[in-house]
Amino acid sequence: MVDIKITRASVLKEKPASSTLVFGKSMTDHMFIADYDEGQGWHDPRIVPYGPLQIDPAAKVLHYAEEIFEGLKAYRTADGTIQLFRPLDNIARMNKSAERLCLPQIPEELALAGITELVKLERDWVPHEEGTSLYIRPFMIGTDPALGVHSSHHVQYIVIVCPVGAYYPEGLAPVKIYVESEDVRAVKGGTGMAKTGGNYAASLRAGDRAEKQGYSQVLWLDGVHRKYIEEVGAMNVMFKVNGKILTPDLNGSVLDGITRRSCIQLLKDWGYEVEERRISYEELFQAAEDGTLEEAWGTGTAAVVSPIGELAMEGKKVTISGNQIGELTQKLYDNLTGIQWGRLADPHNWIMKL
Ligand SMILES: *Cc1c(COP(=O)(O)O)cnc(C)c1O
Repeated sequence: MVDIKITRASVLKEKPASSTLVFGKSMTDHMFIADYDEGQGWHDPRIVPYGPLQIDPAAKVLHYAEEIFEGLKAYRTADGTIQLFRPLDNIARMNKSAERLCLPQIPEELALAGITELVKLERDWVPHEEGTSLYIRPFMIGTDPALGVHSSHHVQYIVIVCPVGAYYPEGLAPVKIYVESEDVRAVKGGTGMAKTGGNYAASLRAGDRAEKQGYSQVLWLDGVHRKYIEEVGAMNVMFKVNGKILTPDLNGSVLDGITRRSCIQLLKDWGYEVEERRISYEELFQAAEDGTLEEAWGTGTAAVVSPIGELAMEGKKVTISGNQIGELTQKLYDNLTGIQWGRLADPHNWIMKL
């Protein structure tokens, strides 16, 4: 049992209508914080009113990006139960990211209690409407107040939560993707396999450029050969080519997505052959030309499954599934969201009810 001290907010906020929710903007009334000090370990787990952190301007996280984060959701089922999807996978991944960033390991029990106790306290914030959920953002920051480049001895683990609307309010829709050939997101040996803010900082410029040209995300290529497909925006990516599923292998610069893992499992359950391997953009454009590139989609917690309708790169442009949602893409979306919102059975024990 983790003994969490709770200080309740004296005034509660008005909850926004589900139809007006913008991703990540409406934070709830409370947040969870635990401190870590070298020699002492983790201490003072607490839930306090949501508000600004007090942080020294010399704190490591502000200068050297000593930060890691996670993203998961709490779902409300038809009978009112609130449930999480594979939360222990998020905690295990956070500890892997922590290892890479020289942040301390956090015990599973403490990390999980921070999530479950905050969600239970904020249960009225979990929205009811179809496709909505409470987004959960656990993160860890190094806060030593000193500019020397060393790992921190003082660290905080914080959890904040916010209601989010349906990612596709008008239903699942295909997106246009630009293949980025200049910037790279991550390289092997760097921090690509960690969920850390620095990777996102590196991705902003390409994302902005793509958006200006009318594309919603970029397709990242590997940093060494500039040839092999890695991810799409902040999602993993999968292709259906000639009946087979292809997805980049976890080579050190690709994030080990929990949605990716879940899709692979479902696809194997359904009898599909799934190849995790290097895939060059040439192979992909060739498959599109031959007519064997049947479907393409991104996978991630926020969108779940995001169909790709168009791929463009330096003058080349291909349309996938006639810019419609592929049949398998739709089936994956329906099955994953069905399990998450409790409409379908959970054969792999992915759900944790609160
Ligand atoms: C979080 C993230 C993903 C998706 O991971 P999920 O666990 O499926 O949400 C994919 N790529 C990057 C770079 C990410 O940060």
